[in-house]
Amino acid sequence: MSKKVYDVAIIGAGIVGTMTAFYLSKYNVNAVVLEAGIDIASGTTRANSAVIHAGYDAPEGSLKAKLNVKGAKMVGPIAKQLGVHYKKCGSLVLGYNKKDLNQLKILLVRGKKNGVRGLEILTQSQLRKMEPNVSRDAKYALYAPSAGIVCPYDLAYALGENSCTNGVDYIFEYKVDKIEKNQRNYLLYSNNRVVKAKYVVNAAGLYSDEIAEMLGDPLPFKIIPRRGEYLLLDKCEGKVVTHTLFVTPSEKGKGILVSPTVDGNVLVGPNANVVESKADTGVTVEGVREISEGARGIVPSINLNTVITTFAGVRSTPTSGDFYIQESKKFPRFVHAAGIESPGLASSPAIGEYIIKILDRAGLKMEEKEDYIPTRTKDGNCKLFMDMTESEKRNAVRKDPHYAKIVCRCEMVTEGDIINAIKRPIPAHTIDMVKRRTRAGMGRCQGGYCRAKVAEIIARELNIKISDVKKFTSNSNVIGGRTK
Ligand SMILES: Cc1cc2nc3c(=O)[nH]c(=O)nc-3n(C[C@H](O)[C@H](O)[C@H](O)COP(=O)(O)OP(=O)(O)OC[C@H]3O[C@@H](n4cnc5c(N)ncnc54)[C@H](O)[C@@H]3O)c2cc1C
Repeated sequence: MSKKVYDVAIIGAGIVGTMTAFYLSKYNVNAVVLEAGIDIASGTTRANSAVIHAGYDAPEGSLKAKLNVKGAKMVGPIAKQLGVHYKKCGSLVLGYNKKDLNQLKILLVRGKKNGVRGLEILTQSQLRKMEPNVSRDAKYALYAPSAGIVCPYDLAYALGENSCTNGVDYIFEYKVDKIEKNQRNYLLYSNNRVVKAKYVVNAAGLYSDEIAEMLGDPLPFKIIPRRGEYLLLDKCEGKVVTHTLFVTPSEKGKGILVSPTVDGNVLVGPNANVVESKADTGVTVEGVREISEGARGIVPSINLNTVITTFAGVRSTPTSGDFYIQESKKFPRFVHAAGIESPGLASSPAIGEYIIKILDRAGLKMEEKEDYIPTRTKDGNCKLFMDMTESEKRNAVRKDPHYAKIVCRCEMVTEGDIINAIKRPIPAHTIDMVKRRTRAGMGRCQGGYCRAKVAEIIARELNIKISDVKKFTSNSNVIGGRTK
C-alpha cells in the first residue's frame, strides 16, 4: 500500500473536477484527480449544448443563479489564457405568441435581478435583422448579448493539461468503489488500489449520489438522469444562425435550440427524457424526429440533410432544483459538488472558485505558487495547425515537417497536431482521444478517411501493435487482423 497522502483528491474529471484542479494548482497543494473513465470529460461534460448561458433562467437567490452569472463572465478570460475556442455570440429566446411574451418578460426581470447585463426584448423586425432565417412565426425575442459558446471538452482538457503541468496528478480508469476514513485521511478504493487524501471533492456528476452513499452521507435529494439528444450539422450549414436560438422555456426545461458551434458547425437539440440508466447515451429515432421538428420550428429552412453525426448527453437533474456544493456535515473535509445540471458548464469557473473557498474554510493550507505556469503545457505549444497564422504555420513546418502532412482532410489536421496530442501532459492514446484534441475525424466524413492513418500514427508513436490501438475505452480495439 502506497504511503503517499495527497492533500486533496478530486473524484471526477468533468468540468467541475478539472476546474477545481485548475484553481488548486495555483497553490502549493498536493492534489490528484481520480477518474473512472479513460480520459477527461468522460461524462456529461463531453455531450451538452456548449452554451455559456447568460444567467436569466435560474430562480433569483439560488446558488445556480449566483454561480451562473459570475461563471459566465469568467469563461472568456480562462479560455483566452488556455487557448480554448470561445465566442460571445449572444442568445435569443424566441416568443411566438402573447403567452410567450409574458414569459420572456418574466425572464427579463429575473435576469436583471440575477445581475445579467444588456438584456432586452426585441421586436420581430429587430429579431429578423439579427437572424434572417428565423421562423416568421417568431414575433419577439429576449436578447442576451453576454451569452456565449465554447467547446466543453476542450475547455476541460485545457484545465486538465494546465493543472497537470502545474503538478496535479491524474489517475484514469480509477472508479472509486469504496470509501473509508481513518483518523486523519480518507481512503478512496478502486478494486484493490487505494489513494489516500486529507480532503476530498466529490465531483462525480451523475454518480455523485453514489459517492455520497459510499461515504455514508447520502445526499438530501435524488439525482434523476434526463437524456438530451442532438444532431450536429456540417460546416456547410454553419451560417444558418449566428446566435444561440432557444424557444420560450416550458416546465420540461429550456427546450430545443439551434446554435452555432465554436468550430463552425450547427448544433440542434436537445430533448429531455428521463432514462432508466445513467449511462444511456443512445440516440433514438423518436428523439431525432422530435428535435428535427423542434429545429424546423425555429429555422424552417434548416437543411437537416447535412447532419454529420448524432449524440446524446445525460443531465444530472437534482430533485431539489439547485446546485448542492458544500462540505459534508458528518464528514469534515469532504466536499460534495452534486446536482450540477445546466448551467453547470457556464457556472464552472465560479463553481471551482466556490469549492476552493470551502476547502480553505475547512483548513486546507493554501500558499500561492511562485512558479505557476499559466499555459496548458510548459512550452505553451498546443495550438492546432488550423488555428495558426500563416507565419506560425511556416515556422511549425520548418521546425517539424510532420506539420506539412495533412491527415484529416475535412478538418485540415496535420500529423504534427496528432503527434503533439499524443505527447502532451495528459497524452492521447486512443483514436477518440486524438479526435477530441485535434478534430481529426470530426468533419463530414467522420473519420472514414483518416481513422486508419490516426491508428497508424498512435501505434508508431507509442511503439505498440496497430491491433492494440483502441477507439476509446480499454476494450474497443478497431483492428482485428489482416484481411489479405
Ligand atoms: C443535454 C445537456 C445539455 C446541457 N447543456 C448545457 C449548456 O448548454 N450549458 C451549461 O452550462 N450546461 C449544460 N449542461 C450541463 C453541463 O453539461 C453539466 O452541468 C456539467 O457538464 C457537469 O459537469 P460535472 O463535472 O459535474 O459532471 P461530469 O462531466 O459528468 O463529470 C463527472 C466525472 O466523474 C466521473 N466519475 C463518476 N463516478 C466516478 C467514480 N466512482 N470514480 C471516479 N470517477 C467517477 C465520470 O466518469 C465523469 O467523468 C447540459 C447537460 C446536458 C446533459
